[in-house]
Amino acid sequence: MRPKSIIISHGHLDHCGLIPNLVDLEPEIYSTVMTSRLTGLLAKDTLKIAQYRGHVIPYYNDEIQEFERKVNHVNYRKEFETNGYFVCFFDAGHIPGSSMIHLEKDKKSLFYTGDVNLIPTELQNGADKELPEADVLMIESTYFGKDHTPRKLLEERFIESVKETVDSGGCALIPVFSIGRTQEIMMILKKYGLNAHVDGMGVDVYNLMKRSPEFVKDPKMLDKAFTGSNIVDPEERKRILKNPSIIVTSAGMLNGGPVLYYIREIYDDPKSKIHLTGYQAQDTNGRKLLESGYIEDKNDRIHLNCRAELYDFSAHSGDVQLRRMVREFCDSGTEIVFTVHGDNTEGFAEWIREELGVESKAPVNGETIYI
Ligand SMILES: [Zn+2]
Repeated sequence: MRPKSIIISHGHLDHCGLIPNLVDLEPEIYSTVMTSRLTGLLAKDTLKIAQYRGHVIPYYNDEIQEFERKVNHVNYRKEFETNGYFVCFFDAGHIPGSSMIHLEKDKKSLFYTGDVNLIPTELQNGADKELPEADVLMIESTYFGKDHTPRKLLEERFIESVKETVDSGGCALIPVFSIGRTQEIMMILKKYGLNAHVDGMGVDVYNLMKRSPEFVKDPKMLDKAFTGSNIVDPEERKRILKNPSIIVTSAGMLNGGPVLYYIREIYDDPKSKIHLTGYQAQDTNGRKLLESGYIEDKNDRIHLNCRAELYDFSAHSGDVQLRRMVREFCDSGTEIVFTVHGDNTEGFAEWIREELGVESKAPVNGETIYI
């Protein structure tokens, strides 16, 4: 398979991690400017981790630079043409720069949601509401069958817990994904008058967002959240923990990053609490902590005496919004729906077939489908 064009939906590793491997095939590459910067940042980080851990090197620096030279930056809602396809990006509201993509060729059209969030957050406005019709819909399924706690209630519970932890003399440790979640959590804390320490790659991502404020709902509030907080140098980490404190740090599923240093320091302190802020995938430390009370790091199994809770600050649409989105597309003429990116893609496809009477399929990895 030699792609002539590559269209990147957003700067999360599971959507853009392979791109530098493909530049030698000389495809045309398209993304928003924010997505291309995030793709470059993640590629450099992936390479660094592979070198540090002695893993197979996925690509070299010059391939990353080649990607950065070649990528074409496109704007939302402005159609362009690549290799005979007419393409248009729409804001997906998932992370800054994230896109839904409409493709059209020979009067046949396809709409791909990428990862999509229809609900506004502190950081973003939510996905575009006015979307074109499409013969084929490819939709993410992450939260099919699961709904989110209403945002305001979730924020209040989270803030109450953080305050209670610090007031009782503990450390409120908040593991976050670097892209989107760090900035969102910092803005929420600021909104409730709390100053945090922030540590890890989320600070680099904030600096990228500062360069493209048009992808953020309220750039001034984002700036306030970071300038009013302490950006942590690695040598400061020990000192911070001497007092009750709020620490926002990566990685969000506890599988690396500075959060492991902090956990090793607080794991035996029942006054401290870990506030997980998003989905914890199977086999990650975050899932092990919630289900079995331990994490694993450098061949150690660490059982935790500090407390741990999960707060679902998801950047994906919940069940109600996913079903509504499919219904709207099908009502305006979509003939087939592919359900992707979720634990229960087959369940979603079945619901579409039975409830909406529209053809639907949950493709498996590696399957090729001709439209
Ligand atoms: Zn994503």
